[in-house]
Amino acid sequence: MDPLYVARPVLPDLADLNTLLEEVWATRIVTNEAAMHNRLEAELSALLSVPVAKLFSSGTSALQCAMLALDLPKGSEVITTPLTFPATAHAITACGLTPVFADIDPDTLTLDPQAVEAAISPRTAAVLGVHVYGTICDVDALQALCDTHGLRLLFDAAHAFYSHKGGQSIAAMGDVSAFSLHATKLFNTVEGGLVTTRDTALAKRLGLARNFGIESEEIVSCVGINGKMSELHAAVGLLNLHTAPAERAARKALRACYDKIILAHDGLRTQVIQEHVVQSEQYYLLRVDPEEFGASRDDLYERLKQRKIFARKYFWPICTDYECYRGLPIHSRAQMPVAERIKTTLLCLPFHSGATPDHVEAMAETIAELAKGSKRLRMEA
Ligand SMILES: *Cc1c(COP(=O)(O)O)cnc(C)c1O
Repeated sequence: MDPLYVARPVLPDLADLNTLLEEVWATRIVTNEAAMHNRLEAELSALLSVPVAKLFSSGTSALQCAMLALDLPKGSEVITTPLTFPATAHAITACGLTPVFADIDPDTLTLDPQAVEAAISPRTAAVLGVHVYGTICDVDALQALCDTHGLRLLFDAAHAFYSHKGGQSIAAMGDVSAFSLHATKLFNTVEGGLVTTRDTALAKRLGLARNFGIESEEIVSCVGINGKMSELHAAVGLLNLHTAPAERAARKALRACYDKIILAHDGLRTQVIQEHVVQSEQYYLLRVDPEEFGASRDDLYERLKQRKIFARKYFWPICTDYECYRGLPIHSRAQMPVAERIKTTLLCLPFHSGATPDHVEAMAETIAELAKGSKRLRMEA
């Protein structure tokens, strides 16, 4: 049995890629918002049913440019979740803004609107929610809160490319959404990012933010970075729009297999199924209750690793554990924040079409062994 890693990139057919690259080579225009790039933007705008879809060099530059484009006052605060990838909090900091952490809902693991409310100060300028593991934030409650307090609402939708809710596109929520198109993401351009918004007035500012603030040959009108996507990456994206759906279908089937295995054991569960939400199929999250299951997340992680099945403790550590944010409070309704309580229980299982029936069987055996051990211990006690 081959080793199984947590993620495996979806790649286009190499001959197809070559055909597109020959077009690029013929023009010698390899970046700076050229033909492939513009085609991909048009296709993404249509696919995600959103008027503005701007490409970036990464999910991180997409997040940064989204905040630059909103022109949030220097030094103001952005409320976000500690249960996310480092990029979310770092993008806030890199824009000269201050991340403020609010607790999560114990079921959806996304921002708890009441905790967000408790974190609002006179310096708050925006809320940045993360649709973790493809589960969708409580968008309506967050929007109501932001409307009441005059705040901008952003989403890190890196896990949610193919998610949608009750017919509403994930890309059209709040003021602006940022996606990562990194190789580990289901729809990927190897490295890349995307910002979407319903606000067509923001399109120009997003374009300036990703291109050094250059307005014209002789005018630089605002602060910007180099956040541009190259033609090579855009070509991969154009082809992956056609390769990703089959991978997504394979993952849906794998999710059903995993669900069956874990539902057979006390103390194991996966992400909540939200009403009217269609899953992106980006991650499979396993939540381990060590008391009920009888073994910890770390025990399971190590046992799987011994069989060369590499799951990932994700997200672990959480943002407030990093040296740069350590000591910052997590605003919460609870004495012990939910994020603190559950961070040691989360494990993302390998989730892609490279998982064979043998791999799945090995995972089922490992889980059953640990669970059996726990039952024996409990009976002896
Ligand atoms: C992947 C990811 C990012 C970062 O995207 P890059 O493309 O790697 O810069 C940001 N936020 C979340 C939640 C992610 O999973």
